[in-house]
Amino acid sequence: MLNPLNIISKFIKSGNQKELDRIQKIVEEINLKESKVSKFEDNEFPLRTNEFISRLKNGEKLNDILPEAFALVREASKRINNERHFDVQLIGGIALHENKIAEMKTGEGKTLTIVLAAYLNALEKKGVHIVTVNDYLAKRDSINMGKIYNFLGLSCGYINSNQSDEERKENYNKDITYATNSELGFDFLRDNMKYSKNEMVLRKHNFAIVDEIDSKLIKNLKQTDFDLDEKEKNILLTNEGIDNVEKIFSDAGILKNNNFYDPENLHLVHHVNQALRANYLFENGRDYIVKDNEIIIIDEQTGRQLPGRRFGDGLHQSLEAKEKIEVKAENQTLASITYQNFFKLYDKLAGCTGTAQTESAEFFEIYNLPVLQIPTNKEMIRNDLNDQIFRTGLEKDNAIIQKIKECNEIGQPLLVFTSSINKSEHYSNLLEKEKIKHIVLNAKNHEKEAEIIANAGKTNSVIITTSISGRGVDIKLGGQDQSEKEDVKKRGGLFVIGTERMESRRVDNQARGRSGRQGDEGSSIFFVSLEDDLMRLFGSETMNSMLEKLGLKDGESIDHPWINKAIERAQQKVEARNFDIRKTLIKFDNVLNDQRHVIFEQRKNVIDGKEDENYSDIFLEEVLENLKRQKILHEKSPNSKEFPKALKQTLGKSITDDELGEILNSDLKTMEKKIKDKFISNRDERNNLLGIEQGKEIEKRILVQIIDQNWKSHIQYLEQLRQVIGLRSYGQRDPLVEYKKEAFLLFENLLGKLKTDLVTMLLNLRIIEKDDSKTKTSDNIKNDPKCLLVKNKEGKTAAVPYKLKNHC
Ligand code: ADP
Ligand code: MG
Repeated sequence: MLNPLNIISKFIKSGNQKELDRIQKIVEEINLKESKVSKFEDNEFPLRTNEFISRLKNGEKLNDILPEAFALVREASKRINNERHFDVQLIGGIALHENKIAEMKTGEGKTLTIVLAAYLNALEKKGVHIVTVNDYLAKRDSINMGKIYNFLGLSCGYINSNQSDEERKENYNKDITYATNSELGFDFLRDNMKYSKNEMVLRKHNFAIVDEIDSKLIKNLKQTDFDLDEKEKNILLTNEGIDNVEKIFSDAGILKNNNFYDPENLHLVHHVNQALRANYLFENGRDYIVKDNEIIIIDEQTGRQLPGRRFGDGLHQSLEAKEKIEVKAENQTLASITYQNFFKLYDKLAGCTGTAQTESAEFFEIYNLPVLQIPTNKEMIRNDLNDQIFRTGLEKDNAIIQKIKECNEIGQPLLVFTSSINKSEHYSNLLEKEKIKHIVLNAKNHEKEAEIIANAGKTNSVIITTSISGRGVDIKLGGQDQSEKEDVKKRGGLFVIGTERMESRRVDNQARGRSGRQGDEGSSIFFVSLEDDLMRLFGSETMNSMLEKLGLKDGESIDHPWINKAIERAQQKVEARNFDIRKTLIKFDNVLNDQRHVIFEQRKNVIDGKEDENYSDIFLEEVLENLKRQKILHEKSPNSKEFPKALKQTLGKSITDDELGEILNSDLKTMEKKIKDKFISNRDERNNLLGIEQGKEIEKRILVQIIDQNWKSHIQYLEQLRQVIGLRSYGQRDPLVEYKKEAFLLFENLLGKLKTDLVTMLLNLRIIEKDDSKTKTSDNIKNDPKCLLVKNKEGKTAAVPYKLKNHC
């Protein structure tokens, strides 16, 4: 029976086709410019580029100069690499420029396509980032395509993980920069942990073109190190306690500047705090249990054990110490961001990949990027065979090996895809038994594997690989030198074998796409067994009964288009589930993202000194107001320990216990005056020694450090909250709503704590003088040598700034 929809679709153009038709007109414009640009002398190209730049400055738009610019790039590529952009590549370039995801099959030349959009957008001189799958490709593409950019008069660089900050900065200042998403992401996070604008390596996030964008749907980015720090402040040390702690740490040689509250000792304060909490607030059997030499957390809400989870902030380690079991190293997240939220930092974003269509809804929902499917340059003739389905894994494996043997005997090159490194080894062992020469790739050394993959099209080649290995490397029939090209063509081109259906159709399509590039001969087939994970977990009853009806017997296989469809439906279930997980993850991350935005912005303002605000004075006022409120409450219930605690916490060692008692018994005005006087005289003392400018700089630096320390704790706490809150969700409560509520409260606390911490730190900070060789404390503070050491502006007497490396 005829499907009416099919009939209608014959008359109505798809949205995709309409877009292609519209873009085709621009392509024709570009083609019309070809005869003109082909007459330019080589040395004219940079001049043309400069002309474009000034035209943009004079108000023309990128779209106005697109046809000329693309024609110029194509001519440059022709002269440099002898590769003239195909029309479909021009379409791709336009799609990228128009913030789309260009779906172009493997081998269609996305690398060269990207150059078009990158060149055009780089003319605005705000920088263009091209995001590659790995360091090797960043370097390779930047070197190969860099020749074209340079010929055109633009600069090009790349970022690799081993580069210093100087090199990074230099490369980010190029017109076009190739880098992986993780380098870009880490540099962003690192920049937001730096103390001056000078040290930052990145410019503004202007335009990013993401190659193989489908590979960046999932991952999360975390920056870790082994710092420990504090979370809550519910246990306090008395002055006596502080003296004791100081003695212990000083005997151990780890106390800096003889002052527990010195900023350089922040981490010690945190350790002590956590140790106190571990020992006095956390109870074995209630908050955690000890099992097989492990601390296992008990969720306070549900009472469930949470094996494998660790308390953050060094608390888990403190508990391990308390229970006298092995203390394990802790990874602390300094900053984290999902790639989704990272890419949203760019003013403009585009991407390309061979396989986007199956996930196009997700791309649109998450990145707001539509997918444009671009036709191949030459007709695709690859033979995609039906899946072969078996009852057991053993039968399937036998058939796979049989197939490999068959192809190998006639010399046809084979690429065998597996779902994991373990499975790769499994098939490698099977081939070993059959004495079939082969290579196993496992995405460990991209450069070496690129070399191997590039020759995957040679006769008799057998390569076992995972889906990520060798991505982005072209497979030419007959190998890189193409010597055996005709020979391999006759043998049927590259044969791709999938050893199971993977977790998404996209990954399968990636695998198939390794074969049949640019109109090459080739085949692909997937082997499936009912014991495969996908079939066990997501296969349907109907499929099983269907197989029974078809009468699948031992050792037999079945292939039928229906079964392919049924398997694809199973995959769609997995895809939908994964999409849901990612969506949830992003919703949680969005909460953090908003807060991150506020904090990073604040931090930048402090560093830029943009607002001519004096943070410490403003904060002092707020902290005092807060203390006054608490004092009023205290007078109503004088037995409460809240206020004395808060007061002690805020003032630290800057007052004696006697003075503390006086303040407790004084009126509000007296309290305020006393604290203010201390604060101001302390600052005056600093400024006298250092000069006002340096004094201000120190306050600024300390504030930035306080922001970082507290932010680190905060995101770690949120992460823990996120993990635990899912477990708490029962009844009608939506974990996301609960999380948002708690995250908001925590953020308010964080902002309050930043203020108190700055005031506390500045009240307790002392300056000592020092000459270059030996520490020489000035008389007035001889007995209280708390502080950090630095040269002052005359270059001799020295003073405070903590971690002010540039000034030391
Ligand atoms: P993709 O990333 O789309 O899989 P690549 O960018 O790796 O493809 O390009 C595949 C191969 O095609 C490369 O060897 C490249 O040099 C070649 N190529 C790309 N565009 C052209 C062109 N216009 N003319 C000739 N060769 C091209
Ligand atoms: Mg590529």
